[in-house]
Amino acid sequence: MKKQVLAFDLDDTLFDAVENFIPFTNKKYKTHFVFDKIRNSDVLNERVPINEEIYRWKEFFESKFGLAIKPEPRIKEAISRLHKKYSLIIISARDLPLQKSARKWVRINFPKTFSKIYFIKTKAGKLSKAEICIKNKAILHVDDNPKHIKDCLKKGVPCILVNRPWNKNKNLPVKRMNNVNYSDIENFLNN
Ligand SMILES: [Mg+2]
Repeated sequence: MKKQVLAFDLDDTLFDAVENFIPFTNKKYKTHFVFDKIRNSDVLNERVPINEEIYRWKEFFESKFGLAIKPEPRIKEAISRLHKKYSLIIISARDLPLQKSARKWVRINFPKTFSKIYFIKTKAGKLSKAEICIKNKAILHVDDNPKHIKDCLKKGVPCILVNRPWNKNKNLPVKRMNNVNYSDIENFLNN
C-alpha cells in the first residue's frame, strides 16, 4: 500500500532559521533585530530592501555557520519515526537564490528521508503550498507561517501551526505545537 503523505515547511519548522539568522546578521551589519519582536514574515521588517534581505539570507545559509545548524533532537526523532510510517515531503517558500542551500541542508541533516522538496517560488511563477498538498494528497501540512496555514484551512488541507513570535498573536482556528514533535503529530493524525 502506498504510504500517506505528510508535508513540512523547512525554515522555522524543521530548524530555527530566524533565531540563528538574527545574531548572525546583527553582528555582520551592526543591526539590532530582536527575535522575540519579529512580527512579520519579512524578518528585517522592511528596513532593508527585499533584494538586500535575500542577499543577507543567502550569505547566512551558505556560511559554515548556517550549514552547521542542526535540527533539535526532538524534531530529528519525530521526523525519523514518522518516516517509517509516512511518505514525507518538504514545501518551502524560499526565494530562488536560497534554494540550493536548502537542498544541501536537508541532504546533510535528513539524508534519504524526504521523498521530495518543493519550492513554491519557481522561475515559471508562484505556486501555493495548499495546492501542492492537494496534488500530493497530503493528510497534513506543518508550517510556522500564518499565510500558508490560512490558505491550507481555506482549501481543506489539515494543518498544524508551529508557534513562533510572528504568529503568536494570530487568532487562527488551528492546532498549534511549540515545535515539531512526534506525539503532537500522531495525536493529531489519530483524531
Ligand atoms: Mg517557515
